[in-house]
Amino acid sequence: MDRNNHWKLETANCPLPSAPEIQVMETPIAIDGRRLARPKKTRSRAQVLAPAAGIVIAHLLPLTLFYTGTRWQDWAVFVGMYVPMVFSVGAVLHRYFSHRAFKTSRAFQFMLGILTCCFFGDPIGFTGKHRIHHRYSDTRNDVHSPRQGFWYCWFGSLFDDGLTDDQVLHAASDLTKYPELMWLHRYFYVPALILMAVIFAIGGYTMLITGYVLSWVVITLHGPCTVNYFCHRGKSRRYATPDDSSNRLWVSIYLLGEGWHNNHHYYPGSARAGFFKGEIDGLYSILKFLARVGLIRDLRVPPQSVIEAGRKGEQTCA
Ligand SMILES: [Zn+2]
Ligand SMILES: [Zn+2]
Repeated sequence: MDRNNHWKLETANCPLPSAPEIQVMETPIAIDGRRLARPKKTRSRAQVLAPAAGIVIAHLLPLTLFYTGTRWQDWAVFVGMYVPMVFSVGAVLHRYFSHRAFKTSRAFQFMLGILTCCFFGDPIGFTGKHRIHHRYSDTRNDVHSPRQGFWYCWFGSLFDDGLTDDQVLHAASDLTKYPELMWLHRYFYVPALILMAVIFAIGGYTMLITGYVLSWVVITLHGPCTVNYFCHRGKSRRYATPDDSSNRLWVSIYLLGEGWHNNHHYYPGSARAGFFKGEIDGLYSILKFLARVGLIRDLRVPPQSVIEAGRKGEQTCA
């Protein structure tokens, strides 16, 4: 199967860099016949160390809660953050901005962009990188393949994915025409800082660490890394895609439907990742609700031909 057939069909409005603009690696493709070399570094040492230090500190800060203690209100905020955090990454950054799986107004699009900056990052940065992941999944130009090693796939690509900002902007060129999204691309940290200040003002240190930092680590940081790694390694594949993508029930429970990753790689333009009965997809339920109240519209779903292909597919279960 042509690797790009479905990608071309589903992302016709989402231009990607042509092949020469992605740096072709000169290092050998395979070390052991399967493992791939990591992309060449494009960031300075300071650009790598700053986010790495931030992630280490975010893991250490919750340990201070053993000394300070917590209140039920802190844990209520922790629980309350779960759906907004999963939604902002899975439904907004991924299904909306990266794959244009539904439509909305420009004003609500901007609100969604602010939401994603509160919890994960800006739409243009995520979209550019994610489209390049689809374009080169599990090849040497992928930005986070398990074939490049566990640590690189899980953390390394967060610090240095081998892409330049120009490549990211080019891959998300349908979004760069919006000045408000470009502003978020430059100042992605502003909404998160404001939210943290508000939580601190309301509930103090323990609410900030429990309700924002700990939930960010557990949900927003490790959630997408879980998909990037475990959903490119399993054997549960409905569709014979030319990559290693697989479906994982437990990831879909954890991330409200984002674990149906083999379905997603076969037909990425769908607002629904669970194509079949039993493939639970909480994010799609939320999107249907938002469409019903008029905030979004034109949710795209897989055509019957894709459903039929899945029924006849590999159907191997991990
Ligand atoms: Zn993937
Ligand atoms: Zn995707």
